[in-house]
Amino acid sequence: MKILAYIEDLTWMDIFEYYFRKLNGTKYIGITFSKEIAVEAAKNMDKVYLVEHTFNPKILMDSLKKILAGAEFDSALFPSTNKGRVAAGIYMGLTSATLATDVLDISPSDAYIDVDRLVFGGTALSTIRLKRPIALCVVKGDRREKPAARFGEIEKVSVETVGEVSFKAREVTGNDPTAADLVVVAGRGVRKREDMVMIEELAGLTGGAWSVTRPLAADYRWADHWIGISGLVVSPKVYISFGVSGQPHHLMGARASKYIVAVNKDPEAPIFEEADLGIVGDLYKVLPRLLERLKKG
Ligand SMILES: Cc1cc2nc3c(=O)[nH]c(=O)nc-3n(C[C@H](O)[C@H](O)[C@H](O)COP(=O)(O)OP(=O)(O)OC[C@H]3O[C@@H](n4cnc5c(N)ncnc54)[C@H](O)[C@@H]3O)c2cc1C
Repeated sequence: MKILAYIEDLTWMDIFEYYFRKLNGTKYIGITFSKEIAVEAAKNMDKVYLVEHTFNPKILMDSLKKILAGAEFDSALFPSTNKGRVAAGIYMGLTSATLATDVLDISPSDAYIDVDRLVFGGTALSTIRLKRPIALCVVKGDRREKPAARFGEIEKVSVETVGEVSFKAREVTGNDPTAADLVVVAGRGVRKREDMVMIEELAGLTGGAWSVTRPLAADYRWADHWIGISGLVVSPKVYISFGVSGQPHHLMGARASKYIVAVNKDPEAPIFEEADLGIVGDLYKVLPRLLERLKKG
């Protein structure tokens, strides 16, 4: 059972390993756009195809065509990220694989694979039965396995770099909520853009990153990224939110956090149902005190 995995960053390696083992994989092949990622991923894969180019759907399609001309895959794994979804769509177009997105877990048998998918913004699970070959866009849940040592080779895929199609991912430079151990999140309870300074300051003081809910990014333009079903999926050790109500669309991107801490003035806010620690209070009183306390050391 040959399995292909699109490696966007190394944080997906332990998640993909889980699926590789559950699918009874025998050969584990990666494809990535980064040399650094290829070098690291090859330690845990049988082979890694390296496309030395910035992410571009046309280049990816041409590279996949080349790879698929020489190999057939039983299954393919993609991260449930913007680029991962694009890559999965291209792969699906080039193969006869059936695609399932927002996959939380699988139960394979000889004939079928039952796939648990998050639906309704992550509030419910739906199980669908698929036949191989399949392509899975998986979410960062707690299904993980330590990657096994495999020490595969790296093969460069060279394709003509012509074509008009480009992919512009949202830049998350210097503040990457997907890589941080602590993520501070602002919601609509934060009244003014200037008040975001407190959110950023808390992230700075704790060595974490910050983000927002979608309205703050998409409507107010206070950030170029947000957490949730249509934004980033984060899995920090601590997620701490200020003035976030906790709608399913948002929590879908935060649920994989180890601890959820929420500050909201409304005791009935849905986020308290999911929070490990909840503070019912005005963020304009709690946040300044927290900052003051942290600055004192
Ligand atoms: C198709 C679709 C996709 C979506 N995708 C996403 C997504 O990916 N991510 C996302 O975030 N949203 C997404 N949304 C929007 C989502 O449904 C919610 O509308 C949004 O998450 C709410 O943001 P919020 O919690 O900041 O605001 P609100 O729901 O307005 O909550 C504000 C909260 O702040 C509290 N508050 C107010 N003042 C204070 C104060 N002084 N101190 C403390 N608390 C205070 C209030 O009690 C309230 O609970 C999507 C919506 C749709 C339709």
